[in-house]
Amino acid sequence: MDFQTKQPSDQLSRPVWCSECCLRIAPYDLRTVFKGKDYHRHCFKKMVHREGKVPRHNPSKDEK
Ligand SMILES: [Zn+2]
Repeated sequence: MDFQTKQPSDQLSRPVWCSECCLRIAPYDLRTVFKGKDYHRHCFKKMVHREGKVPRHNPSKDEK
């Protein structure tokens, strides 16, 4: 037997921070991942509301 024991709990215990309110998101909190960033679900809604819409890439523009 030559397999490595991977610990999924390792990932679960990784601290996640909300990009909106800068508070830690508890594992049991509802979480939304947007563009690689983590948000509380309510924070994400708040952000979307503030922006007026969900920001998205404009394919006709170069982002540099
Ligand atoms: Zn938050």
